[in-house]
Amino acid sequence: MTAGTRVLVLNAGSSSVKYQLIDMLDGSRAASGLVERIGEEAGRLLHLPLVGEPRETLRRFDGHGEALAAVAEELAKDLMGLDSPELAAIGHRVVHGGLRFTRPTLITDEVLAEIRRLIPVAPLHNPANITGIEVARALRPDLPQVAVFDTAFHATIPEYAARYAIDRRVADEYRVRRYGFHGTSHQYVSRATARLLGRDQAELNVIVLHLGNGASASAVAGGVCVETSMGLTPLEGLVMGTRSGDVDPGLVFHLHRVGGMTVDQIDDLLNRRSGLLGLCGDNDMREVWRRAEEGDEDAALAFDAYVHRIRRYLGGYYAVLGRVDAVAFTAGVGENSAQVRAAVCANLEELGISVDPELNAVRSREARVVSPSYGRVAVAVVPTDEELEIAQQTFALVHEV
Ligand code: ADP
Repeated sequence: MTAGTRVLVLNAGSSSVKYQLIDMLDGSRAASGLVERIGEEAGRLLHLPLVGEPRETLRRFDGHGEALAAVAEELAKDLMGLDSPELAAIGHRVVHGGLRFTRPTLITDEVLAEIRRLIPVAPLHNPANITGIEVARALRPDLPQVAVFDTAFHATIPEYAARYAIDRRVADEYRVRRYGFHGTSHQYVSRATARLLGRDQAELNVIVLHLGNGASASAVAGGVCVETSMGLTPLEGLVMGTRSGDVDPGLVFHLHRVGGMTVDQIDDLLNRRSGLLGLCGDNDMREVWRRAEEGDEDAALAFDAYVHRIRRYLGGYYAVLGRVDAVAFTAGVGENSAQVRAAVCANLEELGISVDPELNAVRSREARVVSPSYGRVAVAVVPTDEELEIAQQTFALVHEV
């Protein structure tokens, strides 16, 4: 148990570390920043203190250890170093928790070993998350450190929705099932939607559309996730910035047998050269919309394909939930693109879903309802805050034990 009121949230990627120091009394950021291009000559640390000017350091950071040490130095300059008594805990974003980690978890050697055992199902993400944890533990071995998993919120999805219809023995041997991702965001946004509407979350059925560079949908019944669009990996589901989302798995065999492509090439194609980028050459929705407005046919097709996929999921999740009280748009596209929101909700009055053009056009960073007052389903824009959710879960756990 600690008297500190701040939580440092760390999100370690393969070549970057993002951090936020959050004061749990009011959710304010005492500091935030990122280190990018770790291991490259052109490394960069950008530190944003609450007061004062942003500070930029341009140099090579040789590994996550050096990067985090530099972050600790920047925090120390503002008297908020890792040894400060105000620091209650460090919360780590960990992408894959497998079947074991369905709640935020205090990190021990045994927990770390288990996260390492999950590397085969999350080869791109868990290794970097593990490095972040190891480095942070080396810097402050005595401080509680908590892992918050991207998959955890989806652990409640019923078995019949989580299973792929393949041979069970093969699935079990290789831990093949639908795990889902972006869980921290879906959890935060579904709760924030209930708060926005002044409703009890236990009574509310919400479809959350997290539309960022990566994109996923989830169906949340009374605060419990019952379906989500990402699966074994973050590739399944919606059309994304550079990921294809759903495809016929047969196209993998086709591209291999007929196109002579290797598994790695197909992996690269579907994860990094598909989605909006693959369809029209741009993965930023602002650019896609601008070009479509100017009459560019590829961009218009990309926009339509993106929206069409979301609508298929929206309709599917309506049937899964039976009754929908709210549809919440979040993340970069969901929070900012009035065009995407309008197109997703077009001609769905029969389902009780529509947007008010004037409310939908308002630009704001606040959570807000954009549907007309007569709509049976509240359509809302609810900015996500995964770091705050990680900090809250971390803080709550540290105070439980
Ligand atoms: P990430 O998944 O990387 O966290 P974000 O949630 O920040 O992504 O979303 C990034 C995406 O949001 C951009 O690629 C862009 O497509 C989209 N975006 C950001 N601002 C706008 C805007 N004003 N209008 C439309 N799309 C936007």
